[in-house]
Amino acid sequence: MSTVPTIALNNGVSIPQLGFGVYQIPPEETKETTLAALEVGYRHIDTAQMYGNEQGVGEAVRASGLDRSDVFVTSKLNNGFHAHDDAIKAFDTSLETLGFDHLDLFLIHWPLPGIDVDFVETWQALEEIYRTGRAKSIGVSNFQPSHLRRLIQETQIVPAVNQIEVHPYLAQEDLRAVDAEHGVATEAWSPIAQGLVLDNPTITGIASEQGKTAAQVVLRWHIQRGDIVFPKSVTRSRIEENFDLFDFELSDGDMGLITALDKGQRLGPDPDTFNYIP
Ligand code: NDP
Repeated sequence: MSTVPTIALNNGVSIPQLGFGVYQIPPEETKETTLAALEVGYRHIDTAQMYGNEQGVGEAVRASGLDRSDVFVTSKLNNGFHAHDDAIKAFDTSLETLGFDHLDLFLIHWPLPGIDVDFVETWQALEEIYRTGRAKSIGVSNFQPSHLRRLIQETQIVPAVNQIEVHPYLAQEDLRAVDAEHGVATEAWSPIAQGLVLDNPTITGIASEQGKTAAQVVLRWHIQRGDIVFPKSVTRSRIEENFDLFDFELSDGDMGLITALDKGQRLGPDPDTFNYIP
């Protein structure tokens, strides 16, 4: 079985650099699919209140027979719960739905800079949760440099991670550098751009030279950049393929060629203007 490297977060907690994402996995399929990922060897699962499938994640961890402490589980605060008390309650609901007594990582899913509740208030709620030990680490998602800088200036705990959209068409060199400057680990969401980059000739060319698939080359690019990734798939063969990244290496030249594919193309909303509350 492949050995997945770990990354040390700024509070000393270790996170497996490769995990499994469950966005868009229907709730009724989540237990079975997550269990398949755990069988393949993944030990890090990324879910969110918004995905509606936390229950299946918790069931899969229990059904796997693994110790809870052997699986790193992340969830994220839904957009409607940014007010302090709502955030605490929503966190409790996540634990209940997952059937866990703690989360390994809990994130503010979106900064929502245009809503009435300032994300600084939301973060203070997460700081309280962290101090109880029920979230072993806390972080943010979709924070732009200005959001991150303000949070760090105005609160006590530096986020452990910033989970942002990153793939070869959105390489995020600047935001990753801001994260690194503050000791915040970058997590790359939609790491294979939901499949969009897989027929790019630069990527398929490198893949055929390496005898690997395009998805493996893109995921390996993330790993060598030092980001944390959690590709999603409901397909067993792809779940296996995406885990098989540790028997080859990309040259500096190939790394540069992939980074140069950046065209600032987002799949998701722009965090500066996204203020959606369900
Ligand atoms: P991914 O980049 O992981 O791509 C998933 C898609 O690619 C699916 O359609 C899957 O198909 C397909 N796929 C997976 N592996 C392969 C492969 N080896 N070859 C070809 N196609 C493949 O996209 P996601 O948007 O799911 O991102 C990953 C995770 O990031 C999410 O699950 C979630 O945990 C997180 N995320 C976080 C966000 C945030 O705002 N914080 C936003 C979006 C995602 P199939 O399933 O049919 O096999």
